[in-house]
Formats: sequence, structure tokens, C-alpha cells
Amino acid sequence: MKTVYVDNAATTAMSDTAIEAMLPYLKEVYGNPSSLHTVGQVAKEALDSAREKIAKCLNCEPREVYFTSGGSESDNQCICSAAINGARKGKKHIISTAFEHHAVLHTLKKLEKEGFEVTYLDVHSNGLVTAKEVEKAIRPDTALVTIMYANNEVGTIQPIREIGAVCRKAGVVFHTDAVQAVGHIPVAVQADNIDMLSISAHKFHGPKGVGALYCRRGIPLNTFIEGGAQERGRRAGTENIGGIVAMAAALQEACEHMSENIEKEKALRDKLIEGLLKIPYSRLNGDLKQRLPNNVNISFEGTEGESLLLHLDAKGICASSGSACTTASLEPSHVLLSLGLPHEIAHGSLRLTLSEENTEEQIDYIIKEVPEVVKTVRGISSFWDDLESGKIKHFIKK
Ligand SMILES: *Cc1c(COP(=O)(O)O)cnc(C)c1O
Repeated sequence: MKTVYVDNAATTAMSDTAIEAMLPYLKEVYGNPSSLHTVGQVAKEALDSAREKIAKCLNCEPREVYFTSGGSESDNQCICSAAINGARKGKKHIISTAFEHHAVLHTLKKLEKEGFEVTYLDVHSNGLVTAKEVEKAIRPDTALVTIMYANNEVGTIQPIREIGAVCRKAGVVFHTDAVQAVGHIPVAVQADNIDMLSISAHKFHGPKGVGALYCRRGIPLNTFIEGGAQERGRRAGTENIGGIVAMAAALQEACEHMSENIEKEKALRDKLIEGLLKIPYSRLNGDLKQRLPNNVNISFEGTEGESLLLHLDAKGICASSGSACTTASLEPSHVLLSLGLPHEIAHGSLRLTLSEENTEEQIDYIIKEVPEVVKTVRGISSFWDDLESGKIKHFIKK
């Protein structure tokens, strides 16, 4: 049985381009970029060139790019830095949304314990906020707005450019977790009015454990990891050269092939959505238009996400029922709850996230298998029995 991997929001397979770019830096080019000798300087050149490539893809200057260990670290550093620098000027208010990634939410929770106040904007039933709502929430003591570019569970793309403009006008720092967006849809930090942004290599066919942040010139960035003078003193530690080089190669490739990838993924996504919504009592979560080209998130009433996943896995289909971080807990996804879905519906949801590597044949296979699996899972659900007998009213229309 062939594996059909449709969990690309959790992680992606490394591209051949990224692996080939990385190999020499695991073998011959083993130098420390801080060393003054030739072996070190060769590594330093690779580091500089990777920074230039990434800056080009993000439309910023190389000196505005800082390498980190991934999306989580970038989120932590950007948010804490903006918060602390705001607090120095007496600004201790932050604006975000209820459906951010845990790397953002848990950082905000920590800051709340330290005396910051956070306004969590409602993302409404479609998973979107508006720039107007952000504008209304900004106060004289607002230090930071942090709103994700695209959501990792329901794929909604926020009006980042407009939100950025509102923040710029009010003089508030704007950070966006763009981990699901960069390499997938056009992101340009200048045009999008972004002050700080987080990316992660393994979400665009690069390796795990490496990422970057963008911090606009003039916006202070505090040191998060103390030690050596790497990354202009903002992030100590000998650089993960192989990972960084591979990330740059992966991002360059993703940006070069972006429009064809988008077109391909969109066609597969729309076919998948159409096919799966034929299942009775199913609904698409998140906005249909303002949506990542690779994201499908559907609730099947009277099912349970974990059971759906296990049955699909037995058929070789690797999907997700929420974010990978929440599969260890039985709490329904905070993202689906933030859209106003009842617990039972949020629980019975399936996330399928595609890559340009998926084929139409695989989509046909999923469309054939999911209805069977949903039927099986409903067959052993007492909740489904109660819906069928009319004891509980359906939330989703047939
Ligand atoms: C995956 C992800 C992260 C975390 O990135 P890591 O590199 O795994 O730490 C942060 N935010 C979003 C939206 C993500 O999808």
C-alpha cells in the first residue's frame, strides 16, 4: 500500500534541492563561520549567501533576517522583544486573535502573567478578522499586534496588508506568524506593512529545527539566547549551516515555482472539497475564498477525529484532525472552537493539507475512501444514533 501524505501543514518532505544543498555542509564544509581561517570563512560565505536568498524571497534586506531554530523560536523572540520594548515606554497592551498557533498563544499567556494585557480578537465563523476590528482595538498603550498570516488548521488568509497599514498608521509594531504562508503564497514584508515575521523551513520542504525571523530596520530586536555574537548579537549559538543553506534553497525553489504550485494545489483542493462535501452532514471549516491553496478542513457530524484518522491511516492516508500539537490531548482544537463550532462538531473534523507533490489519483483515492470511513465511524457512534433518531438535533445541514 502506497502512503498518501496529506498532512503538509504539520510538516513537509524535504525536497531533493534542499537535501543536495545541505549535504556538502554536513561533509566537506564543516567550518564554524566565526573562525577566521579558510575552512570557517567558506561556511561564513554560505551563511551570507543563504541570508541574501531568504531576504530576496521576503523582499527585505539581508541584515533584517535572523536565523533561529524554527517557527516557535521566531514567534517567541519577536513577541517578547516587542512586548518588552513596549513596556519600557509604558505600553503593556497586545492585540492578537483567539486562533493563533500555540507558539504565539502560550507566549502571550506568559506575558499576561507578567502583567501585560492581551485583547484576543474574534475570528468569526469564517476564521477572519478585519483591519477595522484591529484599528478599533488599538489603544494608546498598545505595544504590539500579532496576527498570523495564514491559519495552520483552517487555512484562512488574513487581510495582512490592511492590518499592517492600520498598525503602521498608529505606530504599533506588527508581527505576523507567516509559517504557513511563506513559500506557499506571495508574502512581501515591505508591501504587506510587516514589522516582524516568523518562518520555519520544514513547512516549505526544508529541514526541521531551522527557521528565521524578519525584523524591520529600526524596530528593536532583543537578544533571546545569550552567548556569542552570532546573528549580530541577537541570537547566540554556532549557526546550523547545513539547515540554513537547505532552508534558503527550499525557499528559493518554492518561490520560483509558486504560481504553478498554487494553481495545481488549488485544483486538487477544490476537487477534494467538492468530493468530500457530498458526504451527508459535512461542512467546510474556514473561508472558501480567503484560503490557503493546500488546505481542506471538514467536519463530519457524528464522528470523532481520532477514529477517522486511525481508519484512514489503515488505508495509507496520513491526515490530521486538528493541529499535531493537540493530538496528544482530547480537548477539541482551539482553532475550531474559536470559529464557534460546538465541541462535538469540532471533535469530528479532518484536516487534509496538500503539497504540489500530491496527484489527482491520490485525491480520487481519498474521495473514495473517506465516505467509507465516515460511515464506519458513525456506525459505532452513540452520538450518531441520537442524531439519527432525532434525540439530538443536527447542527450541520444534510
Ligand atoms: C508549524 C508552525 C509553527 C511552529 O514552527 P516550528 O518550526 O515547528 O517550531 C508556528 N506557527 C505555525 C502557524 C505553524 O504552522
